[in-house]
Amino acid sequence: MGRDGRVDECGGLENRYPFGDRRFESSSLRHTRKTIAFRSLGCKLNQYEIQALREGFLKHGFREVPFASPADYYVLNTCTVTEWADKEAKQLIRACHQTNPQGQILVTGCYATASPKEIQALPGVRLVADNRSKNQILFQVTGLQEVSEEESPFFKDGISWFEERSKAFVKIQDGCSYFCAFCKIPYVRGRLISRNESSILEETERLVRCGYQEIVLSGVCLGSYGKDLEGSRRLAGLIRKIIRIPSRFRIRLSSIDPRDTPVELAEIMKESKKLCPHLHLSLQSGDDTILERMKRGYTAGAFEKLVQEIRGRVPSIGLSTDVIVGFPGENDENFKNTQSFLERIAFHRAHVFPYSEREKTKAAVLDGKIPIETIRKREKALKETLAPLTRRYLESFIGKTLEVLVESKRTKDGLLQGFSENYIRCIFQGTETLKGTLQRVEAKEIMGEKLVCNLLTT
Ligand code: SF4
Repeated sequence: MGRDGRVDECGGLENRYPFGDRRFESSSLRHTRKTIAFRSLGCKLNQYEIQALREGFLKHGFREVPFASPADYYVLNTCTVTEWADKEAKQLIRACHQTNPQGQILVTGCYATASPKEIQALPGVRLVADNRSKNQILFQVTGLQEVSEEESPFFKDGISWFEERSKAFVKIQDGCSYFCAFCKIPYVRGRLISRNESSILEETERLVRCGYQEIVLSGVCLGSYGKDLEGSRRLAGLIRKIIRIPSRFRIRLSSIDPRDTPVELAEIMKESKKLCPHLHLSLQSGDDTILERMKRGYTAGAFEKLVQEIRGRVPSIGLSTDVIVGFPGENDENFKNTQSFLERIAFHRAHVFPYSEREKTKAAVLDGKIPIETIRKREKALKETLAPLTRRYLESFIGKTLEVLVESKRTKDGLLQGFSENYIRCIFQGTETLKGTLQRVEAKEIMGEKLVCNLLTT
């Protein structure tokens, strides 16, 4: 829905084209009145893609209904990063079939790419599309020539809005060519492929024009952007162009690999408030033996040097990370090295993942499997190591001003909440009309992993 409800380019077509809308009195409307429901599991990329699919179907007369309701069509964008993600997809497919046995279930995404036969065999499944042919689904359902496009991991029309979100994700690349030992993604998302710069700029400009004040650049291996493009200035070059888009908005980077994190990003953060001073720099382990076994391609020392260079330019940068505990062969000493490394780097946030074996990955055949009890113990120990680091980082902002993108109003206490530029969750009094806008706040006190703030601007 365009922010002021007027018919404009900002999408929100759902109730834009009531059945009586004359413009669509053509054969392409034979799908009108067909109801459709969308659901995405997993990462930001999947959420971006389900939005692109949503806009395509709604533009052609379909009417969206909640996923739990009876629908003529269900579109499910699956994930396969863990065993649990596969299970969740199967449960949802069964639930759709139960809700409407006549419903046509269209399944795509990483699990659909990894195990198409398994999914095709489930009741109600009419179409299984792999990751590289998601942009064919609309054509396969409608048969409309006007929507046919060349098979690609990118959608020709891109997106114009983001359902139920105050910020918008923009997909800039797909695939990964690193093949880390534990990771299934390169097998389901394919090798690195970058989107052409002009379509990224066009889409970002459109989203900013439609009022989105935070754009999250997303990809499977974000920092690899442009490696496959002639004469490309890579991610930093792209960001410098996006920053030139006039208007008040900011760019956030989704997770990035240390091998592809040029210090230039920190330079840009220093030069312009438009690039959030926050990096989610995925570490995975702080021990060189395990990093080697993971085929991560860097050492703890190299990672630390990169962090020092970045902090040298942006001392208050928010640094978050991902760590896997229980990777095959991880003994107590390896684990202790990871624990002390996290302390030394002092990340302000970290996702700790228990190792999840994925078939076909190199790690799946490694010896030295770690018992689940040990994995659980290490997971708990790392979270205990991280808690004081988070607190120390939050304390350093008490009394300081931060800029928060207001995302929602909490039901339990009616406070507004959102993330600051350096990715701290902040809560404060304010009216819900501020949702989706950048607001200046002053940090007053700490509550768990959040800052309780006062709103400075209205
Ligand atoms: S860089 Fe990331 S996406 Fe690529 S293989 Fe490694 S963990 Fe997977």
